[in-house]
Amino acid sequence: MKQTKLFSKTKKETPPDEASLNAQLLLRAGYIDKLMAGVYTYLPLGLQVLSNIQDIVREEMNKIGGQEILMPALSPKSNWQKTGRWEGFDVLFKLKGSGDKEYALGASHEEVVTPLVDKYVNSYRDLPVSLYQIQTKFRDEPRPKSGLLRGREFSMKDLYSFHRDQADLDKYYEKFITAYKKIFSRCGLDVKLVKASGGTFSKFSDEFQVFTPYGEDIVFSCSKCDLHQNKEIFAGDKCPNCQGKLEKNKAIEVGNIFKLGSKYAKDFNLTYTDEKGQEQDVIMGCYGIGISRLLGAVVEVHHDKAGIIWPTNIAPFRVHLIPIGADKNQEIQATATDLYKSLQEKNIGVLYDDRVDIGVGQKFADADLLGLPVRLVISEKTIARGGCEVKKRAEKEAKIVLLDKLTEYLSEG
Ligand code: ATP
Ligand code: MG
Repeated sequence: MKQTKLFSKTKKETPPDEASLNAQLLLRAGYIDKLMAGVYTYLPLGLQVLSNIQDIVREEMNKIGGQEILMPALSPKSNWQKTGRWEGFDVLFKLKGSGDKEYALGASHEEVVTPLVDKYVNSYRDLPVSLYQIQTKFRDEPRPKSGLLRGREFSMKDLYSFHRDQADLDKYYEKFITAYKKIFSRCGLDVKLVKASGGTFSKFSDEFQVFTPYGEDIVFSCSKCDLHQNKEIFAGDKCPNCQGKLEKNKAIEVGNIFKLGSKYAKDFNLTYTDEKGQEQDVIMGCYGIGISRLLGAVVEVHHDKAGIIWPTNIAPFRVHLIPIGADKNQEIQATATDLYKSLQEKNIGVLYDDRVDIGVGQKFADADLLGLPVRLVISEKTIARGGCEVKKRAEKEAKIVLLDKLTEYLSEG
């Protein structure tokens, strides 16, 4: 992509009404735009990051047998009354349509997926089933001020699994712990598994938390045995496991998995017939990842004073190519253009800073703010040495790499 064609531009000023670091950096760098508190547009670069994360999530969910569907965002009041969540879900957006009919905007999808599965599952032979979607969720969060970490409209992956008994659910549930750890590590996040209250339906749920000073959650961690517990459920000053000393950490919850038991199956009369011809309740689990919160969390963790530092797997482009002095020197222009084409041919994502009226200082500042993993500079100095200057965003030092060795260098990571 040529930078002169890029729809968004960087901004010098930090937006005055944004307290959170993730939104400040993403807004200044032109990844997102703010429509109102907790509601953002994803601009081309931001959408690319979001979809890179979604692809990773999709891949790992498919690997453990998830089948992707897309459910509606709009659902009828009657379904929410059946589960008690028309009144019970505090942040549910409620709408009135024509004829005074009432609807909810999807804040979660148990009320849609359970009656859906009831249409297809009759016998034990139809189980287990695992369905997921990546979809926009709506929650009327009071005073959202954490940027992408807490939206009123946000991207979530929600998976629902359906089982014949608790043992089958327990086995499947364990697979998520491994799959989730893989997803978060592929996205460049170090995530801790944290015990939390299970809500109404089970004793515990498992949260996936990223420790950062900007997190809204508080987690108590044992320094000895690696047990982590959410403050919400925890009472005491020693580890309940080993009596070790506890540390207090701020954290961001990027994912959460629950055993739902038969709560929703009972509400919608979702049953199956077992081998003996007996009717049984279906047992459910649900598994969420806040995709857009994850994006915000990555920025909270991976940045410095100058801007964002994207992990390679989710960066919008791998390389930021910057010629210096191309307007006055044909050879620089030609070398940079050739390199741009050859990187594209090799499927190495590249943003080409072809702007001619911008000084070197500004170009470098923009590159740091945008945070692409590798900066390549072509200048008179590098051409004299037959190469280009390579600098990783996360590192201080630059070095010269010969042009014909560049692809090899990039493929080494
Ligand atoms: P929280 O306690 O942070 O409000 P939650 O327990 O309400 O989260 P779930 O209903 O389990 O969250 O949703 C699954 C995932 O969706 C969460 O783990 C989180 O990553 C994400 N999420 C929840 N609410 C929001 C929000 N308002 N904005 C962005 N992501 C969210
Ligand atoms: Mg919530």
